[in-house]
Amino acid sequence: GVSPRTPRAETRPAVASFSKKEVQEEPQKLLLNSEDLKIDKVLGSGGFGAVYRGTYLGQEVAIKKLHLIDGQVSSEQVAEFKKEVMNLQALRHPRLVSFIGAALAVPSLMIVTEFMPNGSLYEALHQRKLKMEHNQRNKIATQVSEGVSFLHGRAPPFVHRDLKSMNVVMDFDLNAKLCDFGLTQSMEKTHISRRDNEGGSPRYMAPELFDSRGKITEKVDVWALGCLVVEVISSRLPHEECTSIQQVMTKTLVEKQLPFNDWRGVSSSVQRVAELCFMFPPESRTSAAHLLEALQRLR
Ligand code: ADP
Repeated sequence: GVSPRTPRAETRPAVASFSKKEVQEEPQKLLLNSEDLKIDKVLGSGGFGAVYRGTYLGQEVAIKKLHLIDGQVSSEQVAEFKKEVMNLQALRHPRLVSFIGAALAVPSLMIVTEFMPNGSLYEALHQRKLKMEHNQRNKIATQVSEGVSFLHGRAPPFVHRDLKSMNVVMDFDLNAKLCDFGLTQSMEKTHISRRDNEGGSPRYMAPELFDSRGKITEKVDVWALGCLVVEVISSRLPHEECTSIQQVMTKTLVEKQLPFNDWRGVSSSVQRVAELCFMFPPESRTSAAHLLEALQRLR
């Protein structure tokens, strides 16, 4: 069916209010005392905010703090913040960054998670250009697949909707975990509302995401997961030669090209399982659980 479109953030009135009650009513204590939090240095910034290294009661943590527009938080930001808090609270798994709590120092909204000292997979592969053995790369691909399989294995399944190497973070020993659950949604809803160009990062976008009638299902994650697996093994970005969303769209929809045409360094068995992630229509695409099994067999 046709998914409804929500108005863009700018067209909505800004509100700075956030009901503490809503968060406090949650079974576990989600709300941290913001005085126990110390913000240190910025680690990265994304769509809605910046992530900082800091401490909570002396323990090293990552703090995601929302950017404020004119000193106010938009209703869309509050909605995404709440969604991420509720998602993080509901989804606990060794392959997902663990949630410590939320802090509200109105008008600041903060999400506190465990600190991952090796930063994002994106930085490791493309900026620090970390030398990693083939086994280490396979391990990361397997761990990312474990995280996605966990999400998809919930009843009802959760769709992450923004899988990309910037949203994979690594601990001291280079164990990978998924982060950024701001777009994550449970498939319980009959349809997921989509905002223009906000289905995730263009390079990782499945063809159906470029179609306003396309449905958002866990298969959009499987496409992005296939991209991630090849990316971590080859150190190449999906659609690496494209510089705009238009180029990615043309390549995907008109030229019907896969996110990778250079498979150097990728074994034919990994190429075969990755290609199952790039099938179209989405129903013919493999599942995260199958991909995980295949990767475990290859290790
Ligand atoms: P946004 O939603 O603003 O994009 P993300 O959660 O995606 O925020 O995080 C943005 C960046 O911050 C990541 O790409 C990573 O570099 C860094 N980061 C996020 N979470 C952590 C963490 N738990 N530990 C260390 N760095 C992190």
